[in-house]
Formats: sequence, C-alpha cells, structure tokens
Amino acid sequence: MPEGDTVWNTARVLDRALAGRRLTGSDFRVPQLATTDLTGATVHGCVSRGKHLLLRLTSPPAESSAEAPAGDRDGAWTLHSHLRMDGAWRAYAPGERWTGRPAHLIRVVLRTADAVAVGYHLHEVALVPTAEEDALVGHLGPDLLGPDWDAAEAVRRLAAGPTVPVGEALLDQRNLAGVGNLYKCELLFLRGVSPWTPVGEVPDLPGLVDLAQRLLAANRGRWTQSSTGSLRRGETSYVYGRRAQPCRRCGTAVRKRDLGDRVTYWCPTCQPERPGGTQIDTIG
Ligand SMILES: [Zn+2]
Repeated sequence: MPEGDTVWNTARVLDRALAGRRLTGSDFRVPQLATTDLTGATVHGCVSRGKHLLLRLTSPPAESSAEAPAGDRDGAWTLHSHLRMDGAWRAYAPGERWTGRPAHLIRVVLRTADAVAVGYHLHEVALVPTAEEDALVGHLGPDLLGPDWDAAEAVRRLAAGPTVPVGEALLDQRNLAGVGNLYKCELLFLRGVSPWTPVGEVPDLPGLVDLAQRLLAANRGRWTQSSTGSLRRGETSYVYGRRAQPCRRCGTAVRKRDLGDRVTYWCPTCQPERPGGTQIDTIG
C-alpha cells in the first residue's frame, strides 16, 4: 500500500539511480506525454511530498511536440507522478530483466548510462516547470516525512474541521500529507479512537498527529510496513487487512467497512464510538 513512507522510499530509489545523471533516453506511455522526449536532460534529484513524487530535471529536450508543456527550455522541470493504490517505480541495471510488474503496466521509462528507471501504473504523470510545482502539491498539508514537517500546523488544519470524522480527516492530504488507509486504521486503533469520531471529539489530537509522524518515520527505509513492530508476514498490523480475525488486544472480531476505495478496519471494543477508548500508543 503506497503511503508516505513507501513514496519516500521510492523517491530515494529514483534519486540514487538517476541524480546527477544525464538521460540517454525516455519513453512515455501516457497520452499526455506520448511525444515528449527527455533525452539529454540532467536529473537533479527526486523528492517526495506526501504521496507525490517529484523528479527534478534540467534542460529538457529542445525538440518536443506542440502538446508538450510550454515553458523555459533551459529552466528546471519537474516530472510528477503519483502511485495511488497500485503504482510503483523500479530501478534496474542496463540489460537487467524488468521483473517489477507486467510490461503492459509500464507508463514511463527513463534511461541513463548506468540505470533504467521504470514506472508502473503511475497516475497523474505530468511534466511542469519546477517553478510551478505548487500547482501540483501546493495544496498539501505538512508532509509527515518532509524536512519542514510542522506538527502544530497539521493539528491546526485538522482542528479546523471539528465535525469531520477523524478517519476521513486523516486521509485528507490537505490536513497532513502521507497517511493512507493502512496507517489511518492502525493509528486510530493505537489511539483507541473510532474512525467515526468527529475530529473535535478526539481526546488528544496532537498525540494522534505525533504518533502518525513516528509511525511513518519508523517505516521509512524499508518496504514492509508495520505498526506492531513485527516484520513477520501476518503480524505487521493490528487491524488493517484483518477482517473477522480476533483483535490482538481484546479478541473481538476486527470489523471492516468499505466506503468506495476508503476501506476501514477497526476493533469495535478497543475503538468505541465515543471518546475515551483505551490507548496503546506504541510503535515497537
Ligand atoms: Zn480490541
């Protein structure tokens, strides 16, 4: 499940593979960039902003089609992508077999002399002048894994919507950027808060925000996402993905509710639909 930590890891993979390198070829298999050629561009680096990936480059191709974004050809450009539920980037050595996903899911290929970066099932692929990145990510709240993480601002933004169910508010990237369904469910379990509690009734909002930051930070740098402290298969979550299985704390069957693509798992005993549920609050 690509959440802030996965996207942070992905940015690091791309940064290590491409930063400081000149692109020797590119292949965009998305309609909006089908005729774009980034051959000759130099990659500055790649960063994550919440769940968005920003690959920064300079000197894009002199020749691109009329559909390519207008802008300063000598300036700085950003290739934006979003993984949503199912996207991924992989870096390979030249000549290495691309084993990440089926070939028909490939959306972007970027080649250098030393590496090939392949983007699978990417969403919102766009090439914009770096100066206009804000149009893509400016709406985001404080980035849980960003260098400028601001807990107080995240709390302020959440608190500004006191009637919004907290499960929904945590997913709203305008409040804080990086939490997806998995961490939403796990955070609320750890804090003993029902996902349907209005934000204004959450007992300790700063504590919830602080735990969100610690949970994502603890998972940064590895691909297995765990909220329990265990990296063993089947033991990495308290409630997420555990419908009808006994709660690890009280034994009650974990429940699941589907609201479109916003799946919620919770323990009705540990997370009663009123404030005052028991808190565990450990990451392990
Ligand atoms: Zn329970």
